[in-house]
Amino acid sequence: ANVLRSSSTAAPYNPPSPYSGVSFQPHPHSLPVDGFVGAVGNTPLIRINSLSDETGCEVLGKAEFMNPGGSVKDRAALGLVKWAENTGRIKPGGTIVEGTAGNTGIGLAHVCRAKGYKCVIYMPNTQSQEKIDLLRMLGAEVYPVPAVAFENPENYNHQARRHAERLDNAACNFEGNRAAHIHTTGPEIYAQTEHLPGGLTAFICATGTGGTLAGVTRALKDLSGGKIQCWLADPPGSVLESFINRGVMERGGGSITEGIGQGRVTDNLAQDIKLLDGALHIPDADTIRMIYHLLDKDGLYVGASTALNVVAAKQLAVKLGKGSRVVTILCDGAYRYQSRLFSKKWLESKNLYQELPEHLQKYAVL
Ligand code: PMP
Repeated sequence: ANVLRSSSTAAPYNPPSPYSGVSFQPHPHSLPVDGFVGAVGNTPLIRINSLSDETGCEVLGKAEFMNPGGSVKDRAALGLVKWAENTGRIKPGGTIVEGTAGNTGIGLAHVCRAKGYKCVIYMPNTQSQEKIDLLRMLGAEVYPVPAVAFENPENYNHQARRHAERLDNAACNFEGNRAAHIHTTGPEIYAQTEHLPGGLTAFICATGTGGTLAGVTRALKDLSGGKIQCWLADPPGSVLESFINRGVMERGGGSITEGIGQGRVTDNLAQDIKLLDGALHIPDADTIRMIYHLLDKDGLYVGASTALNVVAAKQLAVKLGKGSRVVTILCDGAYRYQSRLFSKKWLESKNLYQELPEHLQKYAVL
């Protein structure tokens, strides 16, 4: 049996094994971490082999689906709760209230269970049933509400704020999301790539709240003296790509992606949007093909925002030239969306099934 070592100075453990190339290597993370929150972050960078080999570039994904709550938003959730604690907005036994498209809520629900807070989540009723079910299983009080624009007082963000105002010892409208990425995701990516020949050429990802893109961009620009390019990847229906590239906000169409795309420049993004070098628009057909390609060729089971990010990272790498190295975010797994993304019927209803090459259609088994 393998033996867990408690320190990074332990000797490698390499008994004869039929699993050639698989062996225990001492690693600092083999030290126990402090509960759920201690396991957030320090995710690996995965080389997307099929695309790196195809392009002669290095397409790397930060494996955020390996966070203990299963998504990049575990980092934000922890940042929000720490901010609420550190600024005295919440005391033991209090309630965390948030308006979120889902993954922040799931992260918050986990952190609340781990830290003994109550959790109340408002979300647009367009989100997948899997996410709503999971939130309820984690003990959160969930309110799916009609998906209306931010300017409408019934928008989920405003309903969450009003709910918190009705309670004692409750916090809402948190800061700490972008900070979590400035202090963890960004520096991790820099440390994981700076020693590689040529270092990191560029970073690209999509935005929902903008916390990830703004935070990582701020950190990478600071750490590299502005050398690393930072780009936005945008789905249909979002106004940011046209805003960044042409200075006008053009909407147009909708998207199957969840958790990304924006009708406005969020507060998180406003602080760093000028640092961005450009933006790429990624159609849903490319995204859906990439979900199935990553499964087929790389063994990765990812959600739509991740697939969009990977399409964008590949395009950017090709644009920046052979030998470039581009990092993106692998936001979460497909588990939260599989009743849609792997349903032939659902894909047909979105006119996307026919966009899949024939050899990939066999994966749509639901
Ligand atoms: N992908 C998924 C699946 C998400 O839930 C989110 C969060 N809304 C994002 C990407 C975008 O992250 P951020 O909010 O940091 O922009």
